[in-house]
Order: sequence, then structure tokens, then C-alpha cells
Amino acid sequence: MSDLNSISVQYLKSVGPKRAEAFNKIGINSVKDLLYYFPSKYLDRSQIFNVSQVLKFVTNGYDGEITLIGKVVDSQLIQYRKKKIFKVVFIEGASTFECVWFQGISYFQNRFKTGELYAVSAKPVITRYGHLQFTHPDFDKLDSEESKDFFNTGKIIPFYSLPKELRSKNIGDTSIRKIIRNAVEQYADDLEETLPDYLILKNKLPKIPDAIRIIHSPNSEKDLENATNRFKYEELFYLEILVALRKHHLKTKVKGTKFSIDKPLLKKFLDSLPFKLTESQLKVLKEIRLDMESEQPMNRLLQGDVGSGKTVVSLIAMLIAISNGYQVSMMAPTEILATQHFETIKKLLSKFDYNIKLIIGGQKKSERENNLELIKNGSIHIVVGTHALFEENISFDKLGLVVIDEQHRFGVVQKAKLVAKGAAPDVLVTTATPIPRAITMTLYGDLDISIINEMPAERKPIITALRSDKKLDEIYLFILEKINEGYQTYIVYPLVEESEKLELKAAESYYESLKSGVFKDVKVGLLHGRMSWKDKEETMIRFAQKEFDILISTTVIEVGIDIPDANVILINDAHRFGLSQLHQLRGRVGRSNKQAYCILVSDFFKKLDPKSYRFDFGYMSRSEIERSKTKIRLSAMVQYNNGFDLAEIDFKLRGPGDIFGTKQSGFPELRWTDLTEDSELLYIAQKDSFDIIDKDAKLLNAENQLIKKHIKNTFKEKLKLSFIA
Ligand code: ADP
Ligand code: MG
Repeated sequence: MSDLNSISVQYLKSVGPKRAEAFNKIGINSVKDLLYYFPSKYLDRSQIFNVSQVLKFVTNGYDGEITLIGKVVDSQLIQYRKKKIFKVVFIEGASTFECVWFQGISYFQNRFKTGELYAVSAKPVITRYGHLQFTHPDFDKLDSEESKDFFNTGKIIPFYSLPKELRSKNIGDTSIRKIIRNAVEQYADDLEETLPDYLILKNKLPKIPDAIRIIHSPNSEKDLENATNRFKYEELFYLEILVALRKHHLKTKVKGTKFSIDKPLLKKFLDSLPFKLTESQLKVLKEIRLDMESEQPMNRLLQGDVGSGKTVVSLIAMLIAISNGYQVSMMAPTEILATQHFETIKKLLSKFDYNIKLIIGGQKKSERENNLELIKNGSIHIVVGTHALFEENISFDKLGLVVIDEQHRFGVVQKAKLVAKGAAPDVLVTTATPIPRAITMTLYGDLDISIINEMPAERKPIITALRSDKKLDEIYLFILEKINEGYQTYIVYPLVEESEKLELKAAESYYESLKSGVFKDVKVGLLHGRMSWKDKEETMIRFAQKEFDILISTTVIEVGIDIPDANVILINDAHRFGLSQLHQLRGRVGRSNKQAYCILVSDFFKKLDPKSYRFDFGYMSRSEIERSKTKIRLSAMVQYNNGFDLAEIDFKLRGPGDIFGTKQSGFPELRWTDLTEDSELLYIAQKDSFDIIDKDAKLLNAENQLIKKHIKNTFKEKLKLSFIA
């Protein structure tokens, strides 16, 4: 076997030094790189129709994309009023169809030569002359020999993306196919397998050489899917193996603190609460307790919907640590949220003799230095703060538990910094809203999971309505009515102004006009992002003390704020908000046993039937995609109260990149897999890899040698993080 990593593409048939250089520029150096340059799309004969079929589809209302194959018979430049239109007429069988372009005409004019065969794809329309027409279609030139193959044998034709580097060296659709076909014939069998046979058998996957052959020249959709899944599975399997190793390491190699449970103390605390914990809270608490009692450090993710009562649960974990003589630090993503946690904890622990401190930016230097000293000498039990907790020079006397609220806003590194302030402290991560399962299994894969899936019993589901802004006057009357019943209301509006000054002006003028208009007889407060945290906090406290009936606000109330009498939330221009943001905002109300309302105001859309949610945006224009997504977001809010359902929908709409963004969040870069679509494969890969590490953590078994070798070769850097040498 030859090592395909070390054979340059230059030596392949029809490549040579000049073309090799072009390949190198797009990152293809070796033969192996080329074999892994997969087609960006395929043309499948079973999906090609003829003109009369397509005419029928369109007449019957089909409005998706369609592919036709035809030969160029004519092209013309048409002057229509002030516009130029370029039109190409194709013949297919005995019928014709046409394609038109309004932009980039000179480029297209030079492309289409009479007699050439093309596959064109777009959304077809029927013109008023009864012609089938495509506007600005995607098109691919077909080589005559290939097309013979294509029509006679039903083969599927691969298309490779052709960056300008390749085009400039005269590598077109036909030549790249030839180059790759040759490489596959000559070298595919030399590719080394990366998965052990038993996994390949178990999951009915093709081996690498077969998979590569199929990818470049599939005989059927089904084969192609199998081959594609092979590479996706491999990618996910190794991702999860690293996660499993990291988790195993934390569990077995690192010694943490063994806390003991002070039962009378916990009982005293539970008795002091104005409510009883839900079954779900108790179940989760037991999981946390077992972790804390064990010598292995806890590394647990606590998930639950907004308002499900995660704070009380994490507070009990804190009590366990404190009663064992340890300190606790709790980190929140924003000052307003840290402040709220601080207040809540102080309130809930008021009958106990513990010192609790808040550390956020912008505090007085003397105050801060004093606090730091108290933390260092151990006289402070609980420190609540923002990222200031790790940016500042804080050291603890005996840090036993780290609680991180909304971890995805913090980077992996930041989290590690905080944890490093103690000697293997227990870590409890909580999320403000549920996260999609695919994310839990990758980004948070090394954490144990606890889920609160039940709301406190007396809560009524929030009633959510979508209304046009023409109804605002009626909505304001409803709000006034509810104020009479003792309800408070949030009125949220989106930030639309780019500049901070303008934003402030917008907030103030909105506030002024409501306050002196429809709400002149009630008390109205204002909260916006330009206020100092002190002012924000003061405003929130005044709202909580019912000094205001209405709080007009930008999204700064988004997280955590908890005010039991606030039971109406009106969200203006709801289409401007993301789904998880809307759900978070809605979670600000309905925190007591009273009926709560969330009114989404948007003039854009009518509600959708959930059965008609489509997550396939392939053929749509940008603005159509945006509209569809917005429709789904708003409809889903009306339809679902449960954050776990909404998290999955949001994930399909936005994908991991948009939700978890940057590399610093630690989100893995995946080459073949789309986590929004391939979750089934992820579940399988995760189970396989965790089973293996469970039984053979050091990868010593003969059947696992391939796995060990592969991770050592491929993930040198990541391996350091996984602690296996
Ligand atoms: P979240 O999960 O969003 O952090 P919180 O912990 O802030 O939710 O709880 C929301 C509200 O519900 C708080 O006012 C809290 O005191 C209250 N709460 C928590 N658990 C219960 C329960 N078991 N029964 C009734 N109310 C509860
Ligand atoms: Mg909370």
C-alpha cells in the first residue's frame, strides 16, 4: 500500500505541475486530499422530468425547484423598455423551454453555444405565451458522452465546486470528473480504514474504498446516502470518543472533594421555602447530591425551562458545599442577572448566617479590595459575580463548588480559569433555557445531565397570542384591565437603532408617548441598555416593589429577572427577535399561580399550522427564507410553551454556528455532518463510543487498536485536552 498523503496530485493523469499548483491553492495537495474532495451536488436521472410533465406540475400549483435537460437551440438579447434581458431557448424531446437572465448578461451571453447540452435547475413559471421559463437558473454543462451514460444507465452525475483557481487552469466540470475518476480507479483501494470492522458491520456502513467510489460515482441515491453516512458517522464517532475520554478522565483521574450531607440543615432550608419542591427538582437534587458525596468531582449540566426552579436547586448544592466548610462561586453572564441571583440568594438564605458578596465590574476600588481580602481569608461563603470573577485577581481560601449560569455565554477557557481557582471543585452548570439534544451531546458531552422537566404544580401555561399592530389600542386596554386586577406588565420593544444615542432617544420617546397617552393614569417605568447597572437594578427593584404597573424595556430584561406579579408581556415587532430570545422574554411572566399572557405584536405574518413547518429552504431567495423562518418562529411561540420543543425548532432554523457562534465556545468544526439534520447518526455514534470507553477506557483491546492509532495520528492537539497520552 502506498501512503496517499505523500503522493502529490501532480503525478495524477491530466494534472501536471501547473494544475497541481492550482489544486494546492485550494488546499488539495496529496492524492488523498483529492479523493476526499467530494461532489458539491449530483444530478440524478430519476429526478429529471420532461417539459410536458413540468408544465402539468406548475399548473397544479407546484412551486419548488425542478431540473430539466436540454440542448441550446437559440439565444437572444431582448430590449424590454429600459431593461435588457438575455434569453436562451433549449430543446428537450419535441418541446422547448427557456431561461432568462436580467443581470450579468455579458457573462451568460458568452456561455451558451448552440448544440451544447445543459442541465438547468430553478423554480419554473409558465409565461403568458404558455412557455416554460426559468429565471437565473443554476446550470451545468453536460459532456455528450457522459450524458449518454447518464440516460442509458441511469447513473448519477457528480458536480464538483470549481473555484476560480481551478477554472483558470482550464479545469471544468468534465475535466475534474476525469481527473478524480482516474484517481479513484488507481488509488481508492490504498486508502486506510479508520474504523474497526466490528463497528462497520454493526452499522452496515461501507468501508472507505467503497465509500469513496460511491461518493464519486453513485449508482443510486440509497448507495450515496450510505456512503455519505459512513463519513458522517466516522466524524461523529471520533468526536464522541474524545468526549468520552475526557469525561472518563475527569471521573477517574481527578480527585475531588467528598462532601457530607448535613440533613438537619437542608431540612431547615427546605422548611423555610414558601413552596414544596417538585418531583423533578427532587430527582435532580438527588443526582447532584450523589455527585457531591462522591470523591469524583461533579461536572453536571442542569437543564430546565425558564421558571422551572433551577435556582433553588443550585442553592441547595451551595448549602452542601458551605456546610462542609467550603466556599462557592457563582458566575452569571450579565451584571443584571448576577445582581438578581445575589438578591435571590440573600433573600432565601436570610435565616442563615452566611456571608454573600457580589463582584461585578464598576465597583469602588476600596470596596472591591476589601471584598477580595475577605474572599481570600475565607470569611465569605458565597461569591456571586460576572466574568469579573475570573478577570480579577480573586483567590479563594477553599473553593469547593463553582456554579455557572448560562455557560454557553462563557468560553471553555474562561470556565477552566474559574474552576482552576479551586482544587478540583465540583462544577454545576445551569442553562437559562433548554438546549437542543445534539448540542448537549457534543458541546456539553463531557457533562452529566440533569433535567427538570416539570413546572411547579400551580403554574398555568402562559397564553400566547400573535396580533397585528393595528390591534395595539385594544391590547393597551387589556393591559389596563389587568392592571386593575393587580397585574404588572412588561412592554418590550426591539433595538432598531444602530447608534446608542438614537437608541436612547427611541426608548425615551416611546416611553414618553405611552406615559402621557394611553397609560397616563398608571405608573410607567423605563429600562434600557444605556443605563448604568445601578440604575437598572434600582428600576427593577422598584418594579418588583410595584412602584410601576408597566415597565417599558429593551431586551435587558431578557434573562433571569423574576417578578411574580408581572403577568403580561407585550413584545413589539416580535419578528425581530430570535426564538430563544422570545421564549426567554415570555419566561419573565407566569412565575406564580395566576394566568399569564404573552402578546406578540407583528404586522408581518399570519400563524402557520405546525404541520406545515418546512425546514428546507433550498430553493428560496434570501428574503423568502427570512420570511419563512420568521413565520415558523412566531407560530412556534404560539403553539409551544415548552422550551425543549422550541430549542429543537430554533436549532433547525439557526444551526449550531449561529447559536453557539465562535470557536471559543468550543463548538467542534464538522466537515461532513450537519448536526441539525444528522442527529440520529449522532445518537448512534455517541452510544458506540461511550460503550467502548466504558469497557476499554485505555483502548487496550486488540479490536480497538485502530481507534487508538487513529486518534493519536489525527487529534494530537485535542488529545492533550482529553488527557490521554
Ligand atoms: P429558573 O429555572 O428560570 O431559574 P427560578 O429558579 O428562578 O427558575 O424559579 C422561578 C420561580 O419559581 C421563583 O420565584 C422560585 O422561587 C419559584 N419556585 C421554584 N421552585 C418552586 C416550586 N417547587 N414550587 C413553586 N415555586 C417554585
Ligand atoms: Mg434562573
